[in-house]
Amino acid sequence: MNDSTRQVNPMLPFTRPWIDEDTIEAVVEVLRSGWLASGPKVAQFEQELSSYFGGRPVRTQTSATAGLELALLACGIGKGDEVITPALSFVATANVIVRVGARPVFVDVGLDSRNIDLEQVAAAITPRTRAILPVHFAGLPVDMERLYTLADRQRLRVIEDAAHAIGSAWRGRRIGSFGDLVVFSFHPNKNITTIEGGAISGGSPEELKAIELHRWHGQVKSGPDGFDTLLPGGKYNLSDVAAAVGLGQLRRLEEFNARRRVLVARYFELWGADPPLRLPERGDAGHSWHVFTPLLPLARMRISRRAFIESMKERGIGVGIHYPAIHLFSAYRALGYREGQFPNAERIGRETVTLPLFPAMELHEVERVVRAVNDIVRGA
Ligand SMILES: *Cc1c(COP(=O)(O)O)cnc(C)c1O
Repeated sequence: MNDSTRQVNPMLPFTRPWIDEDTIEAVVEVLRSGWLASGPKVAQFEQELSSYFGGRPVRTQTSATAGLELALLACGIGKGDEVITPALSFVATANVIVRVGARPVFVDVGLDSRNIDLEQVAAAITPRTRAILPVHFAGLPVDMERLYTLADRQRLRVIEDAAHAIGSAWRGRRIGSFGDLVVFSFHPNKNITTIEGGAISGGSPEELKAIELHRWHGQVKSGPDGFDTLLPGGKYNLSDVAAAVGLGQLRRLEEFNARRRVLVARYFELWGADPPLRLPERGDAGHSWHVFTPLLPLARMRISRRAFIESMKERGIGVGIHYPAIHLFSAYRALGYREGQFPNAERIGRETVTLPLFPAMELHEVERVVRAVNDIVRGA
């Protein structure tokens, strides 16, 4: 970012995408090419993602929400089925389960990992359970050995919500390069973007077929007119314009994530052994740090989270919230969920704040955030 942008926009946001000039030129080329919807760029993007995930099949969609929904449909999950998922995530993780007609069965998360509690998953399995839908929260991988041992033993399919986790690795193995169906997001807030977009890595040949049918009108090339409709599919295909953005972003992914790790290391270093807020689990080099989400010590503070966020804003620093507990939203209370069922998710939902973290951020800006947080929390 150059100085003129900085003057126009002195506010430090909690995140900001980084689109380079080569990518902008590639988009202009697509716009001039005459082929805008799914075409050669989508094919190339899927191929490059597939190489990135060790040669597994990859199918792109218009969003991770669409990808999760297609993955559930491809697994044949619907009415009467249960899917186990964390009570703390972006609400889309649970919405898709309801949208295909199944019931989301929530379990709690670790207070510092924010990841699904696998002991509680085991306890929540019933004869109706068909799948587990965990989230690699902030890019910290779930314990994949325990997850898949449990799922395989119970013959459950796993749909990983990896919206935060592109570039993450578990014990050196990239998330998306193994496992059942692994769904990524390319929303502008995520580690790489296609503006809107998503992708599924993995799936059996039958599941891939179903994903393709549901993604595009249920159509296949066969029959007397050269095409037939096998099922009433939806329309979730990515455009070539979006794929051109994704190709430019994918080339920068490792660099972006390395930068995120450096910035987070600086937050941890500056706060040292006695941070004024509760820092999230640090993980190892396989953490892709989609968001940096400490908990405010609200019990010791005289101001609310809303007032904290307002004070940060007055100092020119943007703060987000990732996320309120899902089961306390009206739509999920209507399914019978109540306060007190998932104490960690509820506490995180109340206390969490998302501090600035994005590849173009500078180390002195981390220092500025830390000074502001120290002032406000220690003064409150
Ligand atoms: C962003 C996000 C999604 C949805 O991604 P979209 O591409 O915006 O549909 C799903 N799950 C989690 C955990 C997310 O953060």
